Amino acid sequence: MQITISTGDITASSADAIVNAANSSLLGGGGVDGAIHQAAGPALLGACRELRAGAYRQGLATGDAVATPAFDLPSRWVIHTVGPNARAGETDPALLASCFRRSLDVAEELGAETVAFPAVSAGVYGWDPATVAEVALRTVRDYPARTVRSVEFVLFSEPSEIVFRRAWQVLAATS
Ligand code: ADP
Repeated sequence: MQITISTGDITASSADAIVNAANSSLLGGGGVDGAIHQAAGPALLGACRELRAGAYRQGLATGDAVATPAFDLPSRWVIHTVGPNARAGETDPALLASCFRRSLDVAEELGAETVAFPAVSAGVYGWDPATVAEVALRTVRDYPARTVRSVEFVLFSEPSEIVFRRAWQVLAATS
């Protein structure tokens, strides 16, 4: 699998699927979630409401992922995942790794070949971006992909991109 790291706005990505750092309500929030809902149009909230009325009555669990269409976005699908919230004591890296693994599981089920991820949990949820980078890159690198052939990490600032690039170098040097 090819892994690339860039700076940009994930809502402009033409990956088959973009991943949303959602919250468990699935009903929208700030940060990348707000930007994705804004760019996808109101139909995205409608699709999320349908999920809440169906199999996700309790919301989406931390570390899990579920897809909707991407509506007005250039992508075909949005994969919503709920990162652990460090500010609420959710500091287990296994939960964060699960976000990336489950998102790739869903991408594989959809038949997506290209997937774009933001730095899940590195914003309002308070994780150190370097830890997010290490967990994200290791999890994606070690994922046994069949249909996904390319993953892009779309960071929102150049400092974040540098953090991801350093983590990638360290990972390559140590394993
Ligand atoms: P969380 O609640 O999981 O921490 P946030 O949306 O607050 O999610 O932040 C996750 C990361 O997404 C942060 O690094 C933030 O800077 C970044 N981000 C915010 N908007 C965008 C966007 N449009 N494209 C890509 N990344 C974004």
